[in-house]
Amino acid sequence: MVQLTGPALWRGPHTKEKVVALTFDDGPNDPDTLNLLGVLARHGVKATFFIVGANAAKNPGRVKQAFDEGHAIGNHSYSHAFLKPLSEPSFEKEIGKTQDVLRGIIGKTPALFRAPWFFRHPAMLRTVRRHGMLHVTGIFGNYWEVFQPSAESMAKTAERKIRPGGIVVFHDGREARGGKRHNSVEAANLLIPRLTARGYRFATLPELLGVSAYQEGQEAGFDILSV
Ligand SMILES: [Zn+2]
Repeated sequence: MVQLTGPALWRGPHTKEKVVALTFDDGPNDPDTLNLLGVLARHGVKATFFIVGANAAKNPGRVKQAFDEGHAIGNHSYSHAFLKPLSEPSFEKEIGKTQDVLRGIIGKTPALFRAPWFFRHPAMLRTVRRHGMLHVTGIFGNYWEVFQPSAESMAKTAERKIRPGGIVVFHDGREARGGKRHNSVEAANLLIPRLTARGYRFATLPELLGVSAYQEGQEAGFDILSV
């Protein structure tokens, strides 16, 4: 059962099928996002990008490219910061503004949201719900990539943690300020064939969860549970 206001989803439905969703947060962040799209295309893998609105505003073409190449686009706040007061108007500036930016680029309204640092707050969850979005987390594949461990060590960590129905969190950017993520790109390049050799296939996150990536209506308050 998909939940909107309870615990965020950290894995897909219980399944024995070897299917995983690769997700990438904090982009677009070139040249790493551009290179990552090349890696995914070469391996024939569709992934999910949780986009920082401010980064999208600076590089809309890369978001459009990811969308056009079949990857799913989700909302990851505007500035990757939630400033006080932690109230609905304050969250609206981060979440609603990013919806507007993404809608302007891809012509669709995202249905998935991932909070920066998997942040949780009742007013944030209300804002996410008001926008008709589902809050999704995942299993960090490369959280410590802030310190850029080697691609090999990130791929190994992700491979060790992966389970059928798993949601892997990688980063192709760093918050709203960019930063080097080339090791992440290479980690994905190493990980994909290893998981394929173990019998895994790759799905976008909405495919894994059995939900739509985008909302049918444009109106705020569209509730994906009501359809
Ligand atoms: Zn993030």
